[in-house]
Amino acid sequence: MSALALFRRLSLQALLVAAVAFLASGLGILTRPEKQLAAFWLTNALLLGLFARRPALASPAGWAAAALGYVAADLLTGTSLPTTLRLTAANLAGVLAGYLLFRHIREEDRRLQHPLSMLGVLAVSATAAVGASVVGSLTSHAMMRMGFLTASGFWFSAELVSYVTILPVVLLAPAPGEVLRDLRDGLHRARQRPLLLMPLVALALTILLGVAIGGPGAIAFPVPALLWCALAYRLFTTAVITALLCMWTLVAIATGLIDLHLQETSVQPVISLRMGMALLAVAPLTVASVNAMRNRLLATLNHTADHDALTNALNRRAFLRRGGDLMAQSHRRSEPVVAMMLDIDHFKSVNDRHGHAAGDAVLATFAQRMRTHLREDGLFGRLGGEEFAVLLPSVDAVSAIAVAERLRALAGEPMPLDDGRILDITVSVGVSAPSTPEGADTLERLLNQADVALYRAKAMGRNRVVANTQ
Ligand code: GH3
Ligand code: MG
Ligand code: MG
Repeated sequence: MSALALFRRLSLQALLVAAVAFLASGLGILTRPEKQLAAFWLTNALLLGLFARRPALASPAGWAAAALGYVAADLLTGTSLPTTLRLTAANLAGVLAGYLLFRHIREEDRRLQHPLSMLGVLAVSATAAVGASVVGSLTSHAMMRMGFLTASGFWFSAELVSYVTILPVVLLAPAPGEVLRDLRDGLHRARQRPLLLMPLVALALTILLGVAIGGPGAIAFPVPALLWCALAYRLFTTAVITALLCMWTLVAIATGLIDLHLQETSVQPVISLRMGMALLAVAPLTVASVNAMRNRLLATLNHTADHDALTNALNRRAFLRRGGDLMAQSHRRSEPVVAMMLDIDHFKSVNDRHGHAAGDAVLATFAQRMRTHLREDGLFGRLGGEEFAVLLPSVDAVSAIAVAERLRALAGEPMPLDDGRILDITVSVGVSAPSTPEGADTLERLLNQADVALYRAKAMGRNRVVANTQ
């Protein structure tokens, strides 16, 4: 990269960081009561998340740009320079402390892919919150009209709840284009299966119950519905819902919408409440991580159970099961289904002359080539040793024979092995493309007819396609 391009990229990155720090701080300051800290300060967590996801942004220029963003937002909204510098020092100290710890977190844990990942995020959040609270309360507890310890607790709890809720959202956020597509997909699915919205409805109802009943227990009312959301929706969605719920609860309590019926007027209940909300948020995200891992494992397990390890084609059992489903579906729509049987010619002699490992490599390459030419809606399976089957929906006999010829030609192209040897193989193909749906009403009969055609192809000298169109 040329020096000019590098300079341009660094400036753009710094500009992005400065803009995030400036805009988010501006928003926070607007919600800041006179002479106090903001009700909900997003900037530090956003910045830490941004630096954590894109370490290239955390360059010296990036840190300087962040500082500039914080300072500009405060000065422009009328904060004095000494206070601005104290607050910025505290904010950046927190982000730095969190960032230093975050660098030791595994990539999968950064994406909350493991059951314990959220505890890692909690540790990063607590570290960042300690960083901000120590620097912040050392420099400004007098301004907050509190003792050092109370100011530390106040600052720590505010930072903790913000980091714990916002950090997962930033860490999991998909690209902007994907968010829109996911949202459209989600709405489409919800329209087709309205029951998918039940966890959200339950969440709304329990939130309303909290408003109606109030008291200290009210903050835990939505927990079961939140866990339901974590099991029903994706990790990112769960992170967004959790963050929104925490923000809503804090605002609702601050504005008296949820009345906790607490007698005390000191800040201790506020500290306790914020810490409680932060720790509460760990639960749904842990459940969502466990669920995501379980879904991943299930998908792997299903794939392994249905596919042949050597060729990655469907195994016999899965091919017959899915083939039966495909036949039933096509019959309902009165659409034709075509079957093909493919058997590699003289494969025994490939093994005999080149060894079993070379035979395995041929089988894997053969299957790979067949797949490149088959449509997504078709089925490709390995029924036995060097015998494969194809099932194609909505295809007429002429197109089916053309597909079979193409597959035969692909198989016949020279097949290079890893050790440099090049093998030439051929394949015989039997096609069953019944002219009437009654010609082959079951998968078994369709495959039998393809088998008969294959037998004829072998008998006629191999390396050819024979079709049965009755
Ligand atoms: P034809 O043209 O009549 O089909 O002859 P052929 O030699 O291909 O057929 P035959 O059924 O006699 O032999 C199939 C061979 O396939 C026998 C077996 O050793 C080999 N084979 C089956 N499964 C595997 C496998 O997974 N790996 C390897 N390397 N060979 C296999
Ligand atoms: Mg064979
Ligand atoms: Mg065979």
